[in-house]
Amino acid sequence: MSDRYSRQIMIPEFGEDGQQKLHDASVLVIGAGGLGTTLIYHLAAAGIGTLGIADNDIVSLSNLNRQYIHFEDDLGSLKVVSAAEKVRKFNSNIQVFPLATAISKDNVTEIISQYDIVALAVDNAQARMIVNEACVNLGIPFVDGGINGFVGTSVFINPHETPCLACLYGTELPPEERFSSLSPVVGTIASIEATSVIQYILGLDVPLAGELLYYDAHTAEFERLPMKFKKNCPICGGKRANK
Ligand SMILES: [Zn+2]
Repeated sequence: MSDRYSRQIMIPEFGEDGQQKLHDASVLVIGAGGLGTTLIYHLAAAGIGTLGIADNDIVSLSNLNRQYIHFEDDLGSLKVVSAAEKVRKFNSNIQVFPLATAISKDNVTEIISQYDIVALAVDNAQARMIVNEACVNLGIPFVDGGINGFVGTSVFINPHETPCLACLYGTELPPEERFSSLSPVVGTIASIEATSVIQYILGLDVPLAGELLYYDAHTAEFERLPMKFKKNCPICGGKRANK
């Protein structure tokens, strides 16, 4: 068992204790699409003991340019069924729970309250805001990622310790858009999300806690932008508005 993880146990901040922390942790990945693919593989590879995957979509041909957890044989299948099948073949030491449902205001609390941490892998602002509000209310940390073509962002939110997504984006939902996406750029952002999740579980500093990482593949540059609490934020209260 530990041989499987020996290369990461070698990392000084990690050790057997760190591996045990990952084994004891539960992470809910919301979205089994492009970001979800890389997140799920990284979290499963690292040995997160309990992995939930929520998505109600089915696999279509236009997904396969980036959603490499799904194969051609999976076209027409539920994404969570396809993803869970791959995880079980990939790492039989962990438990995976597929959830074929879209996260809504009605079900979000019940679903996420069963997990230690949430990893957002969605392409729409509505789902982000629903999860943001529920995580703030429950005090559950979460990581978010977003992409549009050659650019992407990621941020880690630790409720009341850091500003929330409503502090960053406001509560007005933008019109729904279909974003362009390229597998390696999506994978880069999802890898950063997975790193934040693992750092948090290990009890290490999470450098992106309260900071928005902006990645521009046109110039291969990363920029970190500190987030600010929004005064009287309707979701988190903007606790440290004066900071
Ligand atoms: Zn807020």
